[in-house]
Amino acid sequence: MRRAAVLFLSVAALCAVVSAADYKVGVARVDITPTKPIWMSGYGDRTKPGEGAVHPIWAKALAIEDAKGRRVVLVSTELIGLPRAISDLVAARVEQQYKVPRAALVLNSTHTHTGPFVRYNLITMFDLPPDQVERIREYSVWLGDQLVTVIGAALGDLKHATIEYGQGKGTFAMNRREKTPKGVIIGVNPSGPSDHAVPVIRVKGADGKTRAILFGYACHNTTLTGSFYQFSGDYSGFTSIELEKANPGATAMFFQLAAGDQNPEPRGTLAMAEQHGKTLAAEVNRVLNSGMKPLSGSLQMALVNTTLRFALHTRETFEEEAKTSKSTARRLRAQYHLKLYDERRPVYQIPYPVQAVRFGNGLTLLAMGGEVVVEYALKTKAKYPGDLIVAGYTNDVMCYIPTAQMLKEGGYEANDSMVGYGQPGPFAEDVEERVDDAIALVLKQVGLRPVKR
Ligand SMILES: [Zn+2]
Repeated sequence: MRRAAVLFLSVAALCAVVSAADYKVGVARVDITPTKPIWMSGYGDRTKPGEGAVHPIWAKALAIEDAKGRRVVLVSTELIGLPRAISDLVAARVEQQYKVPRAALVLNSTHTHTGPFVRYNLITMFDLPPDQVERIREYSVWLGDQLVTVIGAALGDLKHATIEYGQGKGTFAMNRREKTPKGVIIGVNPSGPSDHAVPVIRVKGADGKTRAILFGYACHNTTLTGSFYQFSGDYSGFTSIELEKANPGATAMFFQLAAGDQNPEPRGTLAMAEQHGKTLAAEVNRVLNSGMKPLSGSLQMALVNTTLRFALHTRETFEEEAKTSKSTARRLRAQYHLKLYDERRPVYQIPYPVQAVRFGNGLTLLAMGGEVVVEYALKTKAKYPGDLIVAGYTNDVMCYIPTAQMLKEGGYEANDSMVGYGQPGPFAEDVEERVDDAIALVLKQVGLRPVKR
């Protein structure tokens, strides 16, 4: 009799655990630190390959399955940005091998500027030595394989779990569009907009132990400058290390948010990167210990590819630039586009991916391509109800995504950054409208409606 009662109790307890956990979650990681000296991305003033590492750089994957068996995989890569050429190939392989549809794979990059050059990203930033071109090609092929492997490993690790959400605040991100009499420069603009939200997602196993922590922040990983030649994840790399120390057994991973016009402040030294990393980790730990909101319900996901148009250019635009420009990057960009004109395939527009993942009626993750400026996050969060994370640097990092106002003001995010990215010039005036339309469409597809005014 007593034995039967004990058995009954333990079955009831098991049922309680299972029903409290709507989701299954799998976690995996792979070290993607280059093993040979390779050119570093992000800064145009690099003069030699990067070598050695402050700490390893990682690709980390979080696979989530809801009660109906719908799956989504969130991937954080400590890289400058994944170009579509790699993301789409990885997504196609994942779809074939693991039956995860493209809309359910979210590939974010932390935008570390002390990571390796990635093939087809920032194509005209450097005149690379031929041996480096080959090394970058090899690394990029290897990277694609690692990403497919780590996604497969996370899917293979699916176990009952609870997922919780909370939000903290970090203040070291500073607007960098400084207005001067000579125009907008990359500087420090304390009165410009920033988004200091620190969203945190925690995954707990059936035993209550933290298995994964996904945190985000809208701030360039540029504490370290172009004079630093060791690989690292910059501040968010240090944050993950601190979080994993404080939460043994957990995997911590970072999503870069809408950080296009945001720099860490102060910046310039390894000690500052470590300090920002620790500051952010302390805030994430505070959120973890302050009563988070459990997430529940079905996963909904959608991916919209819109088109962004460039301001009109002609062959003469680049003939002029090739002849007169003193900048290597501008000459390289001009030659690249002259070749495209010769081949009768000039670039007038680019595809632009905007993705959304929603947990039941709760948290929504909006994940956009490119270096999205913070203004998009602020206005979208003001327009929609509930918890919304707005990430940039997802699925394709092909250039900056400025606002219409920035196109009028000029500066790096609107104009100069297009050169290193190999794009043919600033966007046409309707860029903001087109991005906003894609955001509205993808959020509608996951069932999110704007607040009624
Ligand atoms: Zn950037």
